[in-house]
Amino acid sequence: MSERPLAGKTALITGGGSGIGAAVAQRLGMAGASVVLVGRTEKRLAAEARRLSEVGVEARGIPCDVTDPAGVNALAADAGAVDILVNNAGVASASPLAKLTLEEWNRIFAVNVTGTFLCTRAFVPGMAERWWGRVVNVASVAGLAGAKYISAYAASKHAVIGFTRSVAAEVAAQGVTVNAVCPGYVDTAMTRESVDRIVAKTGRSREDALGAILATSPQARLIEPDEVAHAVFALCVHEARGINGQAIVLDGGGLLA
Ligand code: NAD
Repeated sequence: MSERPLAGKTALITGGGSGIGAAVAQRLGMAGASVVLVGRTEKRLAAEARRLSEVGVEARGIPCDVTDPAGVNALAADAGAVDILVNNAGVASASPLAKLTLEEWNRIFAVNVTGTFLCTRAFVPGMAERWWGRVVNVASVAGLAGAKYISAYAASKHAVIGFTRSVAAEVAAQGVTVNAVCPGYVDTAMTRESVDRIVAKTGRSREDALGAILATSPQARLIEPDEVAHAVFALCVHEARGINGQAIVLDGGGLLA
């Protein structure tokens, strides 16, 4: 494999201004891809694109709310041909079923599921026309197993995996692969917010709350954003062209079916 196996490719990463998305953008950029960072906050995207440019990655930001169909159409027009789409934008919440509001359910589904659908529909036909493409959806272990208090989030990530498998089947003969990565808890703002929620709802200390999260990992640690980025990169190279419709788990072995 060459040192820059993604040279000449354009990668678009939703939620690319922070956490896993920023790490993915850097990994794909270091592998030679030109990267487009998508998110709602123009300033944050510009800062992240600047940071990437400083390490030699060709990067630009395009503000877009992935839940907005007109916004995603405008994004498709602005971004031009995209070879690699990483549907990473996502939101989480936790609530017992009886307290889960329809508003919250819809908010989670709008970003995690509808956003993934709209972006995939916007970019995959172009990939199929050019006979090369990679879609990687950032799902979660919650896309493969349930747990208490996360019914909306888990249902949304299960939907992402069902969508991944179905679109993968649809475009398999046209040089496009569609896969999902399914991390356990990752060291990002989203996990810090989960710790905050546990502290607020249970009165436990931060250390205890983090301990409860670490207890879900057989390696007793959080996954690093770079580890997820590496898995995404590995799914994008030429040599991964046979991997299609898969849900790759990164959780240290917690979910052993
Ligand atoms: P994060 O909060 O840093 O990243 C989420 C990103 O999505 C942010 O940049 C946010 O601005 C963006 N986003 C949210 N709503 C959006 C919208 N409507 N339009 C455009 N962008 C929007 O957290 P993260 O951990 O980096 O999360 C990235 C992905 O990884 C999410 O899909 C999340 O569900 C998934 N994930 C996270 C963990 C974890 O433990 N952190 C574990 C498994 C999966």
